[in-house]
Amino acid sequence: ERARWNTLVAEQELKEYAEELEISNQKLEDASQLKDRFLSIASHELKTPITTIRGQAQLALRRLSKQEHEVNVEDMRLSLERINGQTERLTTLIEELLDVSSIRTGKMALHKRKLDINEICQRVVDDQHLLTERLIELTVPNQATFVSVDRDRIEQVLVNLISNAVKYSPEGCPVQVTVKRTMRKVLIGVRDHGQGIAQDQLDKVFDTFYRTPDAEASAKKGLGLGLSISKDIVMRHDGRIWCESLPGQGSIFFVELPQK
Ligand code: ADP
Repeated sequence: ERARWNTLVAEQELKEYAEELEISNQKLEDASQLKDRFLSIASHELKTPITTIRGQAQLALRRLSKQEHEVNVEDMRLSLERINGQTERLTTLIEELLDVSSIRTGKMALHKRKLDINEICQRVVDDQHLLTERLIELTVPNQATFVSVDRDRIEQVLVNLISNAVKYSPEGCPVQVTVKRTMRKVLIGVRDHGQGIAQDQLDKVFDTFYRTPDAEASAKKGLGLGLSISKDIVMRHDGRIWCESLPGQGSIFFVELPQK
């Protein structure tokens, strides 16, 4: 009887050990896949702007060194404009890549303060309106809505949602930002009238590096990191982020934060 028990226990333990190994192997494999993806996307996406910057800088220098010709100011301006545009693109890419790695390693420090979310939304909406020249309508409650947030990080989430709404909807389509409060929570909605997102992709868009087939097929550039970074930031604020969409009619991204 005793020997039988011992064998049973040993067998069970062996099975559990094998299961645990399996799980940690799977985790390792996932991490390694993510790393490969990270490197290939990063190197590919970083190369394109650098090629343009180098090409335009060399072109401008060649033009300047041909001293027998007068330097054409318009040519110089065009080169500098392209260099400037690509530098901005590179900055965004690098910031996103650094954010993902600092979130992964738990190094994203938050500095929370009690702030009026209406005012934060107003600032981001004004900036995005100037930058994108798109109509962005903001509706906020009459009274100040205080939440405990890291201003820079919450602004980053709003910028991401609003710039996506602009990016993934046709030119001239307005974007609506709404702030509502309940007894204990604040709900922010960012609505667009773009192509929308299919039902089976509503959760996936928050995954690291995920882009919908529509976005991949379009000329719209991106790494598929903005929403996964936003999700991490919102979760670090004990909030929730999700998306509702009617394909062909548009999407609404919601952020819910506790009023503390
Ligand atoms: P990126 O825009 O850089 O690709 P994001 O993480 O911000 O990355 O978004 C992930 C994907 O979710 C996008 O590639 C796009 O497919 C989809 N998406 C995000 N916002 C919208 C939107 N407002 N309308 C339609 N699709 C969207």
